[in-house]
Amino acid sequence: MSRNVLVLADVRDGALRNVSLECLAAAGRVAEGGKVTAAVFGSKAKSLAVTLAHHGADEVIVVENDQLDQYTTDAYFQAFKQVIDTVGPDVIFTGHTAVGRDVSPRIAARLGVGLISDCTDVQLTDGRIVFTRPIYAGKAFVKKVVKSGMVFATLRPNNIPAREPDPSRKAEVKELDVTFAPETLRTIVKEVVKKTAEGVDLSEARIIVSGGRGVKSADGFKPLQELADVLGGAVGASRGACDAGYCDYALQIGQTGKVVTPDLYIACGISGAIQHLAGMSNSKVIVAINKDPEANIFNVADYGIVGDLFEVVPMLTEEFKKVLA
Ligand code: FAD
Repeated sequence: MSRNVLVLADVRDGALRNVSLECLAAAGRVAEGGKVTAAVFGSKAKSLAVTLAHHGADEVIVVENDQLDQYTTDAYFQAFKQVIDTVGPDVIFTGHTAVGRDVSPRIAARLGVGLISDCTDVQLTDGRIVFTRPIYAGKAFVKKVVKSGMVFATLRPNNIPAREPDPSRKAEVKELDVTFAPETLRTIVKEVVKKTAEGVDLSEARIIVSGGRGVKSADGFKPLQELADVLGGAVGASRGACDAGYCDYALQIGQTGKVVTPDLYIACGISGAIQHLAGMSNSKVIVAINKDPEANIFNVADYGIVGDLFEVVPMLTEEFKKVLA
């Protein structure tokens, strides 16, 4: 059964986020000969259409409007709803990002259709789409099948690999004009002040070096940042470290922070509370550095180092410098 599948491209600072390409890969898995359409918003939208085509879009709907450069609920709701009304898709994928988590349930509720959030896998089995998502804070996974009707799904970044780009692929690019009546936009973003340093986006990072209360101070994060820099990764944190004021809450990983699935997660001075594990236990390889051999983090770690992080982390940095030089 062929299906038309729509993907909302997630754009940050004018660039496509990788999860958009992962959504296109998921769309390709389930379309079964139907059309894969990508919707992309913002004043640079048209320039992103080629990349979307190379990664699997058959059609790209471009809404070039500077009121969509920064995400606001009202503007995205109106624009995406208009795209959905135009395309009439069977399945709609967005990233399980701040954008997808906000806009998808709103439109699903407005249309009275279902939504499966935080999917870590999407497969086609006997002609049916099987969505996999974690439950019980990541301790188990459930597989869901939708019998009929339109369905929204948000995909957790870093779980479904993007397709290799195919430069020979072309997509039909359609421009959609969306105008917003001023009274319908209840929020206007005037300025974005970034609290965290520029660098690798934590939610999409392939390597994360994360610090907990064992890091002991804001300065204690410096060796972790050095290791992350050498590895081309990002720095994350436990809530313990954020609550203690050692780092910004934007770095918090866990149940009430970001959910990450990097290839490598290095937990330094983190005890491994269930709320922290909820945000990182699906990482592909977990390395734990803790001076307490009984720390719970070792129960989920693939490699454990019992030791003082202030000795171990600089040693790792020096060794990786030699290997990666
Ligand atoms: P601790 O538990 O204090 O652990 C510090 C660790 O550092 C210890 O294991 C210690 O042995 C080790 N250590 C100390 N010095 C060194 C050293 N020099 N070298 C090596 N190791 C050292 N937590 C989250 O992380 N994310 C969340 O999203 C989150 N959400 C929550 C939501 C709710 C509703 C609640 C109730 C709690 C939540 N928490 C969350 C908090 C969670 O329960 C823990 O309190 C927190 O994760 C502990 O942080 P920690 O591991 O850094 O600190």
